[in-house]
Amino acid sequence: MPTPARAVLALLPLLHGAAAIRSPRARAATPRAAAPRMRLPALCVLDLDMCVWSPEMYELREMPGKAVRGELNGRGAGVVGVMSGAAQITLHRGALVALQEVHDGLYPGMRLAVASSADTPLAEQIGRAAMRVLEALPGVSVYDVLTRGWDWADGEALNLQIGRQPPLSSDKSRTHFPTLRAVTGVPYDQMLFFDDSLWSDHCAMVERNCPGVVTQRTPRGMTELEWRRGLQKFAECAAASKES
Ligand SMILES: [Mg+2]
Repeated sequence: MPTPARAVLALLPLLHGAAAIRSPRARAATPRAAAPRMRLPALCVLDLDMCVWSPEMYELREMPGKAVRGELNGRGAGVVGVMSGAAQITLHRGALVALQEVHDGLYPGMRLAVASSADTPLAEQIGRAAMRVLEALPGVSVYDVLTRGWDWADGEALNLQIGRQPPLSSDKSRTHFPTLRAVTGVPYDQMLFFDDSLWSDHCAMVERNCPGVVTQRTPRGMTELEWRRGLQKFAECAAASKES
């Protein structure tokens, strides 16, 4: 049985793309891309609570306040947490790695989106505020990376579908995903979706109702292994559908 670390190493050669210009420190902290190239999704859709970050936003009662500084995965000091009352909102390690690699340009042609069914208007507001404070790299917010490559009008960010108030609902497969397809123009078979699927099995619902979307569960918050597993799963599905 391979250890998680060995499994990650085994997947690294499958990573796509050329190395962006990074400092020696950065090179030590992030995997180097290597050939051969793998098929990438055009749209990588992320759930927020228990996928990108913890805790669940519905548990919180206060808008994000004090920023907590720390080391961003060996890439320098930045905002690793933000306080909401006594609770600290922090990114899961796999999500931080994913955001850093997307920002580094390791996945050309792939852009990010969000499908989160935040329970209440306050939960949605807290999430939207937190992503502007939390950083993926020093001086680069999570919001900056999520909206990278999109040309929305200021404040619009239609690739971020958050909440369950109409026209959204608690069923991402019926509202968030059709909306993402409409506003981005990306077909379902070019989408990869990460979700903890702890409360409702959003991965299964999206696979059933949005045929073509490849999904990856992150039940304890996204790990680095799940990030790579999702990308590999998409590449395998894309190769299989090309052959058939
Ligand atoms: Mg979730």
